[in-house]
Amino acid sequence: MVRVVADAIPLYAAERVDATVDVLRSIARVVDRHRYVLGTEVAAFESAFADYCGVAECVGVANGTDALEIALRAVDVGPADRVVLVANAGFYGTTAVRSIGAVPHYVDIDSRTLTMSPTAFEEALASRPSAVVVTHLYGRLASIEPITAVAATRGVPVIEDCAQAHGAAHNGSRAGSFGTVGCFSFYPTKNLPAIGDGGAVVTNDPALAKRIRQLRQYGWGAKYQVDTQGGRNSRLDEVQAAVLNDRLPWLDTWNQERRSIAQSYVRGLGGMPVGVPPSVGSDSVAHLFVLEVDDRDRFRDDLREAGVATDVHYPIPDHLQPAYAEQVSFSLPVTERACRRVVSLPCYPGMSDSQIAKVIDVIGNHFAMARA
Ligand SMILES: *Cc1c(COP(=O)(O)O)cnc(C)c1O
Repeated sequence: MVRVVADAIPLYAAERVDATVDVLRSIARVVDRHRYVLGTEVAAFESAFADYCGVAECVGVANGTDALEIALRAVDVGPADRVVLVANAGFYGTTAVRSIGAVPHYVDIDSRTLTMSPTAFEEALASRPSAVVVTHLYGRLASIEPITAVAATRGVPVIEDCAQAHGAAHNGSRAGSFGTVGCFSFYPTKNLPAIGDGGAVVTNDPALAKRIRQLRQYGWGAKYQVDTQGGRNSRLDEVQAAVLNDRLPWLDTWNQERRSIAQSYVRGLGGMPVGVPPSVGSDSVAHLFVLEVDDRDRFRDDLREAGVATDVHYPIPDHLQPAYAEQVSFSLPVTERACRRVVSLPCYPGMSDSQIAKVIDVIGNHFAMARA
């Protein structure tokens, strides 16, 4: 039986974000100036976003995956070098590693946080990696401080993947300020969304920032003068930067809305047989609200039928992706189990209390029926 659901709840809804800031005015500012690439909007955004993250430098790039690739090149990762990373974070880090011809060295995740296990990272140092990519998954900071402490003893650069964690903080320090370099995406579903693709690389190291600026634009040190190998064209454009400039002042408000939705979920789902995030405090900006459930297909079917959208972030671990899987001779038990169990609930600024209550209700009904 398929019922038509009038007040369906989507997984993401951008309306609130769009209603808060009039993007047509942001765009008009750029069009009036006739300057579309690397102009005043990008410069202003780079400075404002560096301040927001609490770092010295920010370099706008075309998207989050490019940010990761450029960051890896900037810290001198080259072909055949090994890069440590997790396999449950959507293949973005792996895309960047592979595009350089470097080799991913996957380590398992912690079963509670679903982010890189610091112990697994420490063990991976034996393979002499050239860098580690730490992903702050679902909006929550990974165990970044223990990992950076261990990495520092071996001189391994730490690349933070902050594409889901704009503004997540621990002891007053924000995502992107812990490692050697931080990478961001402004894809339209992220916590700080552009109206297309966009990304940024942040760092406290001025020499690295200079290299990153060269790498994003053909390797140029000056116009038409190539000072750095491995350059490409990956620029944040003025229209995206204008929108981001106008939205950045709202980021903390939107993050707080997401966090309070996540807190309502944690309260409302208490006692149900689901795994909930280990924390929804300031170290989380609740990019996604992710549960772990035993019978995910049936769970998702029941929610879909009741008009509640869900998704899975992410169903296939990187090392088992079809294009690369034939090379695999190892398993990552915690990662593989998580990929079978995780499911994301609607969580976005503008979601109403009654929508949150409905999602909790529908989940309660699912488990009541499952018991019956
Ligand atoms: C979205 C995302 C990226 C990639 O960003 P794009 O701008 O889409 O290239 C990288 N890492 C994580 C964790 C992401 O969620």
